[in-house]
Amino acid sequence: MEAEQQINALREELREHNYSYYVLDRPTISDYEFDMKLKNLQALESAHPEFYDATSPTLRVGGAVTKNFETVVHEHRMYSLDNSYSKEDLEDWEKRIQRILGNVAVEYTCELKYDGASISLTYEDGKLIRAVTRGDGFQGDDVTTNIKTIPSVPLKLKGDYPKKFDIRGEIILTLEGFAQMNRERIAKGEEPYMNPRNTASGSLKLQDSALVAQRPLECLLYSIVGENLNLTTQFEVLEKARSWGFKVPTVAQLCKSTDDVLQFVEHWDGHRHDLPYETDGVVVKVNTLRYQEELGYTAKAPRWAMAYKFKAEQVSSVLNKITYQVGRTGAFTPVANLEPVLLAGTTVKRASLHNADQIEKLDIRERDTVFVEKGGEIIPKIIAVDFTKRPSDSKRTVYAAQCPECRSPLIRNLGEAQHFCPNDVGCPTQITGRIQHFISRKAMDIEGMGSETVELLFKEGLVQNYADLYTLTKEAVMPLERMAEKSAENLVNGVAASKAIPFERVLFALGIRYVGETVAKKLAKAYKNIDALRLATEEELVAVDEIGGRIAESVVQFFAVPENREIIERLKTYGLQFSLSEAQMEGQTEKLKGQTFVVSGVFEAISRNDLKKKIEDNGGKVASSISSKTSFLVAGANMGPSKKTKAENLGIPIISEQEFLDKLNA
Ligand code: AMP
Ligand code: ZN
Repeated sequence: MEAEQQINALREELREHNYSYYVLDRPTISDYEFDMKLKNLQALESAHPEFYDATSPTLRVGGAVTKNFETVVHEHRMYSLDNSYSKEDLEDWEKRIQRILGNVAVEYTCELKYDGASISLTYEDGKLIRAVTRGDGFQGDDVTTNIKTIPSVPLKLKGDYPKKFDIRGEIILTLEGFAQMNRERIAKGEEPYMNPRNTASGSLKLQDSALVAQRPLECLLYSIVGENLNLTTQFEVLEKARSWGFKVPTVAQLCKSTDDVLQFVEHWDGHRHDLPYETDGVVVKVNTLRYQEELGYTAKAPRWAMAYKFKAEQVSSVLNKITYQVGRTGAFTPVANLEPVLLAGTTVKRASLHNADQIEKLDIRERDTVFVEKGGEIIPKIIAVDFTKRPSDSKRTVYAAQCPECRSPLIRNLGEAQHFCPNDVGCPTQITGRIQHFISRKAMDIEGMGSETVELLFKEGLVQNYADLYTLTKEAVMPLERMAEKSAENLVNGVAASKAIPFERVLFALGIRYVGETVAKKLAKAYKNIDALRLATEEELVAVDEIGGRIAESVVQFFAVPENREIIERLKTYGLQFSLSEAQMEGQTEKLKGQTFVVSGVFEAISRNDLKKKIEDNGGKVASSISSKTSFLVAGANMGPSKKTKAENLGIPIISEQEFLDKLNA
């Protein structure tokens, strides 16, 4: 046989075996035979490099090393999920859906919520092109080289797949695979890993793909996004994906009513430990994709899906000591230091006690035996005291009166649960906390500098605030503990590189109370530069969509402090971005200011998302359901009849996409 034919035949055969083994869990040949054939193929491929194929099974063994994972913007944003915990939550959700869709019969697809690391895979012409982590949902890291080593990820598809699409799923470690990994580590005298989820997630960012190849990772898929896919329901999505060669768990079920959904939840809540992998709940999705479109998204999650969290697991342990933590805004939190205990797969040593009221209410004391609960990724919390085990000489907890870091007497504002340390200019933890927030990944993302470096720089008197970071020199940093020429250079370069970070992230980095990532984006978009924002009054600020009174007050207070204004002026002179870039400003107008739009149906000239973006870029607001506040209903084909009736009843003008575009161009 010709070498090329032989190579192709072997590739095809190995792909099939691979699929049977890892996707169907039905091995067709022995591991030994498989290895022999793989070696054979490797030998042929290296003798004939001219027949290279990026989808060859030999590439599964890895070897390529990635030093820096490239950031990739998701073509379609990766959302989070809203959570529900009870029958009532689920019924409320159904009511909200019905209000938007207008009392139609809704079916649901129920799937398990696989507990791992989310991934988005892009396929073109049946070949895996790219794999990107979720990141912040807008952009993630390109981890294609690592993902290619996971045997259940098809490099090449079969069947009637669309030309181009993204498919989303979860990278997990099975419980068995995880246990095996740990047995091997212990045998080698290494520390075992804590839990499958973090280990799976950490694996994706290993630089050496050969190491990733050795880990028993799996990829479970659950959703497809793209244009013109010709799919009508979520259940069909799962079946189709399976037929193209993806691993899609067969536990998914089509449910006709919320009662069916609850039965599914109840069943898996009781049987989740029979599964080969970890799950923390069920994901319920509106089955009809057209309804999903109609329902759309909130700022963080689809309206058409809901996670139903299984009951949190509980254990009891002894509370050894109550200590206190001060955050970067001075917020004061009591912490329970526990006798280490295993809970939901991780060892728990600390739990949040929230505030003084909580301690008082539950009468929590040192040396008490307490019940600890953990739900999802939230830090564990103490839910009750086991009074039967309380030592007889136990004493009531006296809450701290002073900040343990700076000795300032604590303050508690009327109506607030939290105490805080008022010494924002002098409290060391607050100072370093603010700088640590400033350099963090989602803020200025300064490479080569970590929390400990910040503490060291502060201790040595090199920085007092985040503006001082920009005055650091290699020579000044080098004498510090654990610093070498290279690391000092990296630090200074990292600081310099952060000058290119866009305005909305700089705004987030400033650490204004209540101004998180999303709020910073909104404010940057609304005010376009820091000076306009500085001059904004509370009334003006609350007029901005999604900005409430609490945020507005905090922004105004921040700019009222002379030290803050001074630091910003300094940062400006160092060259940080304090206004939107030209690219960001492009296409942004105020043409639709004060107008609220509801978008419904399918459009021709422009995609639904682009339409919404156009509205927002031009100063308008997009709402999901019609009310008396709606200015226009933009109607496409197949619009929900209930929306139409409602708009007509309220006398709201209904316009076509063309009329909308004309209005914009007018
Ligand atoms: P959370 O991060 O808790 O908001 O939950 C959202 C995440 O759940 C998504 O980003 C997915 O990675 C993950 N997930 C796990 N299983 C599923 C599923 N069957 N459908 C949708 N998302 C899922
Ligand atoms: Zn303090």
